[in-house]
Amino acid sequence: MGFNTSLLHNAAVNDKFGATQPPIYQVSAFSHDSAETLEKVFASRAPGFSYSRIGNPTVDAFEKRIAALEGGIGAAACSSGMSAVTAALLNILQAGDELIAGAGLFGGTIDLFSDLAQFGITVKFVDSVTAENVAAMITERTKAVFAELIGNPKLDVVDIKSIADVCHSSGIPLVADSTTATPYLVHPFEYGADIVVHSASKYINGGGNSIAGIIIDSGNFKWDSGKFPAFGKYRAFGKFAYLSKLRNGLWRNAGVCISPFNAYMCSVGLETLGLRMERICSNAKALAGHLQTLDGITVNYPALESSPYFPLVQSQFGGMGGGILTIRAGSREKAFRLINSLKYALIATNIGDIRTLVIHPASTIYLHSDKARREQAGVYEDTIRVSVGIEDINDLITDFENAVKGENTNG
Ligand SMILES: *Cc1c(COP(=O)(O)O)cnc(C)c1O
Repeated sequence: MGFNTSLLHNAAVNDKFGATQPPIYQVSAFSHDSAETLEKVFASRAPGFSYSRIGNPTVDAFEKRIAALEGGIGAAACSSGMSAVTAALLNILQAGDELIAGAGLFGGTIDLFSDLAQFGITVKFVDSVTAENVAAMITERTKAVFAELIGNPKLDVVDIKSIADVCHSSGIPLVADSTTATPYLVHPFEYGADIVVHSASKYINGGGNSIAGIIIDSGNFKWDSGKFPAFGKYRAFGKFAYLSKLRNGLWRNAGVCISPFNAYMCSVGLETLGLRMERICSNAKALAGHLQTLDGITVNYPALESSPYFPLVQSQFGGMGGGILTIRAGSREKAFRLINSLKYALIATNIGDIRTLVIHPASTIYLHSDKARREQAGVYEDTIRVSVGIEDINDLITDFENAVKGENTNG
């Protein structure tokens, strides 16, 4: 099955009326014919649902679609990308542990990592996520490596296999945030990643209409070394140890469940992921290619030949660079004026929408990071992040060209 076919037919809806989309079960609880049945459902000894924080058929359908798409053994959907990142990591880490992460991370994740300090979890950042840098930072306390496959907004690309190899030789898992890469560019499990998380609010949903997240398990990592004592009784679940611990533990107890309606919106959005990404990647490449010929700005896009990640984009992502590019405008004032003079691009803090969106990250998403941390994440005072949409490319090129040329004339 090709990518687009698999989106439609991989985890088809099983509905007695033949519904072509998973019906929305907008309920909190499910009733059963006897106390005995409910007891069995609670103990996972009978199929069925009890309460939507713990499981819901619409959510289940979304989880199955994503798990099939990523080639995982299962998935747990979450209320947001941030709750997915949080639950995915706290399912592994405990007080005293260390996590290694790339510095070029999404601002919310950087903020989360400072929150983890109060629970005794230390996050160590590597400037660039290379096998050498990661290997040099691993200690006995390191319990996982976390990386965004295309850093948002640094746009650094991770060589997944080399990092997974380093992790596995130290007996720790690689947790990959594949939000910006999407399953259209890469299936991280094929390169050795162990756990994948997505902010489904972005490309998976695609329409910018729901906040959502999801955690997918490859089932490949062995949690039975002495390094992960909290897995205790869950080791009996074999390759389902991680998901069982997650679903029976923090995921349900912290209540990070997604609403059935948002799961439905993401299921529907997912079906056009291939079409949207094809258009978004070609738009982004054409726009970046054109913008780099203009004076007064510099452009960063991983699929440009001028990018240091160009070779990796060819070998790992089939030549596609995703939907985000960044522009450095020369100064904060110029960046603001450039943003303000765009006609089609909306000024909004999101990515992965079908509409083109722009933002000045330093004054928004990275407001809470200090200058050093911001610059490590590729965010300077003059950086503009562009999340490219599916508009006609000529309109986008004209819009950005007019804004840049206007800025050059102004001053
Ligand atoms: C947006 C984003 C998140 C957070 O997702 P939310 O759905 O906004 O909570 C995490 N990682 C990356 C790479 C993102 O772009």
